[in-house]
Amino acid sequence: MISIKEALEKILAEQLPGEPEEQKLLSASGCVLAGDVLSKVDLPVFDSSAMDGFAVREEDTLEATKDRPVRLVMKEEVWAGKVPERGVSKKTCSRIMTGAIIPHGADSVVIQEEATLEDDEVLISAPAVRGANIRFKGEDLHKNDVILSRGRVLTPAAMGLLAHAGVGSCVVYPRPKVVVIPTGTELVKPGKPLKEAQIYDSNSYSLNAAIGQLGIEALLCEPVMDDRESIFNYVSHALHMATHVIICGGVSVGDYDYNKSVLADCDVREVFWKVSQKPGRPLYYGRKGKAHVFGLPGNPASTLLCFYEYIRPALLKYMGYDESKILLTEDVAVLKESVKKKAQRTEFCRAYAEHTAQGLSVCVLDKQGSHIMTSFVNANCLAILPENMHDVPAGSSVKIHWLPASPLCR
Ligand code: AMP
Ligand code: MG
Repeated sequence: MISIKEALEKILAEQLPGEPEEQKLLSASGCVLAGDVLSKVDLPVFDSSAMDGFAVREEDTLEATKDRPVRLVMKEEVWAGKVPERGVSKKTCSRIMTGAIIPHGADSVVIQEEATLEDDEVLISAPAVRGANIRFKGEDLHKNDVILSRGRVLTPAAMGLLAHAGVGSCVVYPRPKVVVIPTGTELVKPGKPLKEAQIYDSNSYSLNAAIGQLGIEALLCEPVMDDRESIFNYVSHALHMATHVIICGGVSVGDYDYNKSVLADCDVREVFWKVSQKPGRPLYYGRKGKAHVFGLPGNPASTLLCFYEYIRPALLKYMGYDESKILLTEDVAVLKESVKKKAQRTEFCRAYAEHTAQGLSVCVLDKQGSHIMTSFVNANCLAILPENMHDVPAGSSVKIHWLPASPLCR
């Protein structure tokens, strides 16, 4: 049996980022850049108007007041998408819309609230200020500037910036191909009627959601019976197609827990089995070729906890995330009430932490059984009670891991 620290180290030591690949921009959302990206254009692309109004020359408007407006002859109308045909010269102006090119000769835009149109003349009632209401070519970025560098995550804002800069595709780390195999003769998909001795498969659903939060679409198998041959077929197929295979249930020491021996039959090399933790003690991790194989104990809270603590970091590392960003965000909080605990194992407790006047405080929730999901739903963090400690008294400082609200929240 190994410690939680050793388990995570072993997983991450085996886990390299995936081979970078070129992706169309739309498909790259949420991925990590594997190289710097240069702008294809200046941003803004050209000098343009920031407002609806009139493009003028400052010097023609210096005398303008509300009572004695300046009269300018209007030359043309320019709207977004139109190339101006005429410039602005002495005592003239052009009607201009937001996003339109500033006509040659104009140096400022007077907003329409400060102008009145009279036939083909415009009465300007306040002096223009040179450069006012103009968005200048290249003021944000120049063509061939590095807009986003290697390692940046393609957040919604980053996607918008790349698209604006004309980048149609980019080289990113790939998303893992994850296959989830729930095992257990008792399992039935929710929505179907339950027969005696059956329960609903919940792990496929919690895992699918947690994997989905990372922008990865997992392939979910139907629940597989505790039967060597069936499990062998599913696992060997998954090993061919997946980078990460997650098998739920059947990894403990029961008479029908075949998954470890089936994995051995599939030539999966065991890296470790069993971690001194609660819940999730029988956690298994192995390798075959490029595939990473996780055997999760089937109790729903153990499954989700092991995902967050061990598989999520592995998937994020594969996706090219920096190692400093792949773990759940850690904090230290003061325990509100004492917690009973056995020594020689780390206990991950579903807990609720909040900021108080005295600092961060955490309360371990009722019902910590590994078969119970209500406390997981009500938790916003995991309180980590260290391996070497017995009962932990109120007032102790303990580590907490915030449960992720979103894959990109950090
Ligand atoms: P196992 O790890 O197969 O020994 O299963 C431990 C407990 O988790 C048993 O009570 C199983 O019925 C339950 N279990 C296993 N797989 C699932 C699943 N996919 N969804 C919900 N409960 C499960
Ligand atoms: Mg089972």
